[in-house]
Amino acid sequence: MINSSLKQLGAMLAGKQISSVELTQEFLKRIAQLNPDINAYITLDQEKTLAQAAAADTRIAQGNAEPLTGIPIAQKDIFVARGWRTTCGSKMLENFIGPYDAGVIERFDAAGAVNLGKTNMDEFAMGSSNETSYFGSVKNPWDKTRVPGGSSGGSAAAVAARLCAAATGTDTGGSIRQPAALCGLSGLKPTYGLASRYGMIAFASSLDQAGPMAKSCEDMALMMNIMTGFDERDSTSLQREKEDYTRQLGKPLAGLKMGLPKEYFAEGLDAAVGKVVQEAIDEYRRLGAEIVEISLPNTRLSIPVYYVLAPAEASSNLSRYDGVRYGHRAAQYTDLMEMYCKTRAEGFGDEVKRRILIGTYVLSAGYYDAYYLKAQQIRRLIAQDFEQAFKQCDIILGPTAPSTAFKAGEKADDPVSMYLQDIYTIAVNLAGLPGMSIPAGFADGLPVGLQVIGNYFDEARMLNAGHAYQQVTDWHLRMPEGI
Ligand code: GLN
Repeated sequence: MINSSLKQLGAMLAGKQISSVELTQEFLKRIAQLNPDINAYITLDQEKTLAQAAAADTRIAQGNAEPLTGIPIAQKDIFVARGWRTTCGSKMLENFIGPYDAGVIERFDAAGAVNLGKTNMDEFAMGSSNETSYFGSVKNPWDKTRVPGGSSGGSAAAVAARLCAAATGTDTGGSIRQPAALCGLSGLKPTYGLASRYGMIAFASSLDQAGPMAKSCEDMALMMNIMTGFDERDSTSLQREKEDYTRQLGKPLAGLKMGLPKEYFAEGLDAAVGKVVQEAIDEYRRLGAEIVEISLPNTRLSIPVYYVLAPAEASSNLSRYDGVRYGHRAAQYTDLMEMYCKTRAEGFGDEVKRRILIGTYVLSAGYYDAYYLKAQQIRRLIAQDFEQAFKQCDIILGPTAPSTAFKAGEKADDPVSMYLQDIYTIAVNLAGLPGMSIPAGFADGLPVGLQVIGNYFDEARMLNAGHAYQQVTDWHLRMPEGI
């Protein structure tokens, strides 16, 4: 049952083979057994969770269930949820109880899904290994000496260890796709503006986007149906007709043009990862896709551009944690300035401080034109690369991350090598495009992700491309040993 798809679970609930309370208890039992070691969840609240499950059972009995009614989902701790502790992985918010629901949480609640708990993450979503979390690192269920990726590392480990049916994540530069790749699951970052950012704690607002992390593309399509849609409380939310993301599933891929960016297969890519990705591309050829080579010439600039723009936005967004309104406040201080300084010195971890320093620097008078403005201009060029590419192909394929899961501690003291984890994912955020990672096989026993990038609003087609691959392979159904 723990390996069942969302559709199968929905059918079991509808057919009364199991109740939502029973299903939820099953996951809670697994969490109690495995979470103390894996550390995927930061906050659990059995009472709230089981009350939601009981309400779902009533709804199912009344005959007005929706596809996810009664299904237990894990929520990344970046989403504010009413009555739930919401920390964003930071000491700053260690005791913060959500006074309202984020747009994404509201939608899952309305659909009758069950919130199993809040998952661990890099502090304020800054990181690629989940090691910057104030609540401790997360173990990769495939090899517990290795990181699960980040920043949505808790959600990824929870799905991989089958401690939930599916989970939410957020992706500013790769935080859904990279942990999905490192933990052997499917993860999708939608087109910027499709999922509400209301109540999703802001890191870099022009890049942040919420999306599903699940076992398969079919599961992700069902989650996308819930997670997306206009929200007037988010000024960057797009006003579009509601779509059904399952509508293309099952369509043959014959004639689909898939582009391989030559820059994604160059120096820096681990050879064993590259081999697995090539095998996945061969599978797509057999499925009838036409493979063409493309170029994204500005790829190499995406990391430097991101590490100007994302810290700039973060330094502004994180100015709200001042000890006055909410969150941590230093216990001892003599005046207001000292209160601010001590509060922020105590409440933020090193990586967050590094980003605030960089961001404040690049935005300051005298440096703004040289760094911030220049980065914005290159961001446009990066978006234009994709515009050109999508004249030659429908979908882009490549690796998600340059390596498989690395050892805990291996990159903790080397920020630049950590930042390079997102070399293939960041450009997608800078352009606002949708991107996803699906399991494509293993290198030395560790999962490898294939990245699938689509044009704006082309998620339904991407999901079908992933689904078609998952119909002829079983990588996505493999489970780590001993879980
Ligand atoms: N690893 C990148 C960073 O640290 C991306 C994180 C994310 O997508 N939230 O900024």
